[in-house]
Amino acid sequence: MEQVLLLNITYEPLRVINWKRAVTMLTLGKVEVVEEYDREIHSVSFAIRLPSVVRLLRFVKKPNTPVKFSRQNIYIRDDYRCQYCGGRFSPTDLTWDHVIPKARGGKTEWENIVTCCIDCNRKKGGRKPSEASMTLIRKPKMPEWLPIIKITFWLRHVPQSWHDYLYWNVELEP
Ligand SMILES: [Zn+2]
Repeated sequence: MEQVLLLNITYEPLRVINWKRAVTMLTLGKVEVVEEYDREIHSVSFAIRLPSVVRLLRFVKKPNTPVKFSRQNIYIRDDYRCQYCGGRFSPTDLTWDHVIPKARGGKTEWENIVTCCIDCNRKKGGRKPSEASMTLIRKPKMPEWLPIIKITFWLRHVPQSWHDYLYWNVELEP
């Protein structure tokens, strides 16, 4: 499914949305099309090229709502790095770890959950890091906001048409 890069009126990338939402915003006059894919989409009444980059016609402040506590967001916060050995892994080779084990009163919250590779998770078992002679590479805390770079990281391929708009704050994965 094609993804669409949503830009602020300033051309700053805001986030990635799906094409249906982009088309809805377009028909509501909220955005303008900046770049298109080759593919066309047809409905009963119209046919348009699928947008790949759209720009808001009104300035929006970047959202500062709390980041959702989810497995994926924990991996993103920790940059897909095991917080014990520091290795970088694909999501399938990662799990999350309760720093203070649940059985010992550790809570399932930003400050007590870290990204962990399978090996380190096994090694640590139900122990506290100190008991397992393991140290965290960084103290876990609640992220303020996930920058756009982390959003694009999920995409296997960033469309060519996005490149011009991602230059300022995005480092693309090779
Ligand atoms: Zn590890």
